[in-house]
Amino acid sequence: MSEPNVTLAEEAAKLDAADELRAKRADFVLDDTVYLDGNSLGALPAAVPARLADVVAREWGQLRIRSWEESGWWTAPERIGDRVGRIVGAAPGQVVVTDSTSVNVFKALVGGVRIVQARDVSRDEILVDESTFPTDGYIAESAARLTGCTLRPVPAPEMAAAVGPRTAVALVNHVDYRTGRLHDLPGTTTAVHAAGALVVWDLCHSAGALPVGLDAHGVDLAVGCTYKYLNGGPGSPAYLYVAREHQPRFDSPLPGWNSHADPFGMAPAYTPADGAVRGRVGTPDILSMLALEAALDVWDGVSTAAVRAKSLALTDFFLRCVDTYVPAGRVESVTPAAHERRGSQIALRCADAGEAMAELIRRGVVGDFRRPDVLRFGFTPLYTGFADTERAARVLAAVLAGEPGEAGAPGEVA
Ligand SMILES: *Cc1c(COP(=O)(O)O)cnc(C)c1O
Repeated sequence: MSEPNVTLAEEAAKLDAADELRAKRADFVLDDTVYLDGNSLGALPAAVPARLADVVAREWGQLRIRSWEESGWWTAPERIGDRVGRIVGAAPGQVVVTDSTSVNVFKALVGGVRIVQARDVSRDEILVDESTFPTDGYIAESAARLTGCTLRPVPAPEMAAAVGPRTAVALVNHVDYRTGRLHDLPGTTTAVHAAGALVVWDLCHSAGALPVGLDAHGVDLAVGCTYKYLNGGPGSPAYLYVAREHQPRFDSPLPGWNSHADPFGMAPAYTPADGAVRGRVGTPDILSMLALEAALDVWDGVSTAAVRAKSLALTDFFLRCVDTYVPAGRVESVTPAAHERRGSQIALRCADAGEAMAELIRRGVVGDFRRPDVLRFGFTPLYTGFADTERAARVLAAVLAGEPGEAGAPGEVA
């Protein structure tokens, strides 16, 4: 492996020393691996194992059925929803933690089309972000068929121009999962509204990485997962935001007993509950739900503006290190350089990306590979440091230059 560039390594140490979020690292279980895959599965917050052990042994093991009431299990989806709401700029009562992102995309799209068609039945088109994460596209296709709409794929940056008098709903990713491109949420939302339609934002790659401002920008509906930058754990439940003004008309296509106004009335007819509860379906997954709740403690006292500032500093620094270390022409960033268009990851196009990432992981730098030719590096400001960032670029350069790695490098993954 090549010697660290003294200038960049020194600069990294200075940046780490000045980093006001640095202390947050202690809230996570980390090792000497450079973990840059928090945009796929966030690291484990240190408080989660003990909390989960208590939930299992005491709340389930001893209190059993009483815990639905006494341990606050029944109201957990709304309670934890409000905590997610604080991170994405939603006032209490509009976010519910429930189901998967895929399922919530379905609820938001069909529910959104129903709201629009109730006032204008001629609107029969759903716009979808052309380069969307696949599940959103599959669900949108089915939602369109079910609601008698046509589905029109549009590049996210052109959504504002494409929305028209027939559009019911536009489904857009806030940050593109492959390229890390940040889309214009305020501008697109305003344009969609001006055309008389509603917008559904998918926040999977922005929540916890940058300020979203759902209420401030007048977003109608939003969904997102909690296992990426929110560190909720593998398969932790997702969330659904329905803006307060739409809640009375939000007609969920999945009306389960958990969203009934009187769930224990066991009535044969469905009467929807008011508020965020309306987004629930069936019995929540309590173990994952409460692991998420404990994971969210790391956000106490953290501002998303500070997270964003550090995220941009990390990705800027990574690009500089890559530029300095990596042989010219071996990689090309597909992530926009402009801050206002960049999420919290850097995606590098690289001809042999699959083999390169496998070797990076063997040498203790964990990112991921997206076919056919993209290396993805996610930067989670709460636990990623500048020295980590410098090391990742240095190891990447060594791998791409074909320099041999040390056997049993730190953090080697079998
Ligand atoms: C991660 C991600 C998903 C994941 O959906 P699941 O239902 O949790 O599997 C959906 N959409 C986007 C944009 C994502 O990045």
